[in-house]
Amino acid sequence: MDILEKLMRVYFISDERPHITVNKSICQSCSSKECLYVCPAQRYTMEAEGIQFVADGCLECGACRISCKSGAITWNYPRGGFGVRFRLG
Ligand code: SF4
Ligand code: SF4
Repeated sequence: MDILEKLMRVYFISDERPHITVNKSICQSCSSKECLYVCPAQRYTMEAEGIQFVADGCLECGACRISCKSGAITWNYPRGGFGVRFRLG
């Protein structure tokens, strides 16, 4: 089972207020960009205008929070009733 098949086993309840925010001005001077490599849901992408982040689809693993050494990421769990839902079984 590849990552896309695995991601189809979860679903998300979106919140208008994202639980993770990224200070992109800090990202401009980041040479390592660990966030692009550690996120299992590929929520971080590099576009022409720089790092982009989409909170919907986040698995709440915390890897980006730990890997970003520049302090660009403000990380919280989603508010109650929002976020990822894992389908078990
Ligand atoms: S690792 Fe942190 S500072 Fe670097 S690009 Fe990613 S979010 Fe921005
Ligand atoms: S918490 Fe995990 S799944 Fe969510 S954006 Fe960060 S690395 Fe990706």
